[in-house]
Amino acid sequence: MSTAPQDEFNPRLNAEYQFNAAADHLQLDAGVREVLRRPDREMTVTIPVLMDNGKLHCFTGYRVQHNFTRGPCKGGIRFDLKVDLEEVRALAAWMTWKCAIVDIPFGGAKGGVECDPKVLSTGELERITRRYTATIMDILGPDRDVPAPDVGTNDQTMAWIMDTYSMHVRQASTAVVTGKPLALGGSKGRREATGRGLMIAMREALKTMKGMPDKVRVAVQGAGNVGAIGALLMHQAGHKIVALSDERGAIHDPKGLDLVAVTKWLDDQGRQPKDKRKFLDSYPATQLVPKEKLLEIDCDVLAPCAIENQIHSGNVERIKARLIVEGANGPTTSLADKALDERGIVVVPDILANAGGVTVSYFEWVQDRMGYFWPEAEVNQRLEEKIVGSFEEVHATAKKNNVSLRRAAYILALDRVASAYKLRGLFA
Ligand code: NAD
Repeated sequence: MSTAPQDEFNPRLNAEYQFNAAADHLQLDAGVREVLRRPDREMTVTIPVLMDNGKLHCFTGYRVQHNFTRGPCKGGIRFDLKVDLEEVRALAAWMTWKCAIVDIPFGGAKGGVECDPKVLSTGELERITRRYTATIMDILGPDRDVPAPDVGTNDQTMAWIMDTYSMHVRQASTAVVTGKPLALGGSKGRREATGRGLMIAMREALKTMKGMPDKVRVAVQGAGNVGAIGALLMHQAGHKIVALSDERGAIHDPKGLDLVAVTKWLDDQGRQPKDKRKFLDSYPATQLVPKEKLLEIDCDVLAPCAIENQIHSGNVERIKARLIVEGANGPTTSLADKALDERGIVVVPDILANAGGVTVSYFEWVQDRMGYFWPEAEVNQRLEEKIVGSFEEVHATAKKNNVSLRRAAYILALDRVASAYKLRGLFA
């Protein structure tokens, strides 16, 4: 029997706890279980960078490839001061299960650099990105490992990775990263894909819940790629966004925020130089609340779209939402997850709810390799089919086994990867 981890806030232990519970359920062979539990490969690198002040500074970077049984590894790169190997290990494993749930031919990986992109100049960010890419490049490639953006990185970061890799292999290699600018082989719809997938997952979950209206009040934590775009798309679909937060503060309006205005304000400030960057606590004319309170606000749906470990044993009892859709990776600790389940709060787990991003990253990789690009409506239609189909499979697995959606998602994912592993057999 798997037990919840002693250290509630260690994401790798939380990921392993969920893995073990599903492996127990599947009665997975002990050897296969051990292979799937461990990362296939881990790289820790030193990244020396010449800073704008003329001094040399060494950053630490990681790339963890959790599993490539079903195809090349896929997973984002995070630039954040709190990045460490345990976090990257957890994020890499979640990518393996996520790709399996939406049934795309990838394994899981994740990368990270310990740095604070908010205090670095564009030149410093470019030099970090290029040196990190050059250092880990032996394990990258369109058929090996394909990075994408995550917290603290964006399409410009992906363009630098693509260029650095291409200069080394002496050809333009667009398929080595996804989440690129459109002008470099990016896919239409990729920027919005995670938020769109989140909105679709929420809609599908609502259909299965008795007594829930089809138009709901949503609180969204995180105002980045996932949170801000997810909130805007939900708003456009007729839902009421009652609160939105970032790392500094939260804005709250029980009558519903004007998400078009909020996103416009966020987009404008996103292009400001780093020292002029604004946060939601300076958003004009709205009620401000402390960012922690967002999770406890009166709403029907809570969408944590920021970072790990936000819903934990210390605040889980105060959560009022009946449905949680996890835009972020690992926002709920295992202890809190158990408490939510006991209270009958439905959780659409991260590895399903935020799989829209990797799904359209897969479409981008396919388009790059074909050299033929789809209209945005086609991308969105294919994304819709993937998320709806995956939700239905996870929901059916949950009903059949009388387990939560999270447990069902892990059961489905582990079963797919384990079956592929057994079919390949062991190269000795
Ligand atoms: P981002 O850097 O664009 O945005 C992160 C947002 O979270 C920012 O608004 C930041 O201010 C806010 N934030 C940070 N700490 C916070 C806190 N304590 N309280 C409230 N807000 C806080 O990052 P993103 O790409 O939107 O990623 C967010 C999450 O979604 C991460 O867990 C990431 O791994 C996951 N995710 C991202 C994608 C993608 O396509 N970008 C896909 C799948 C999953």
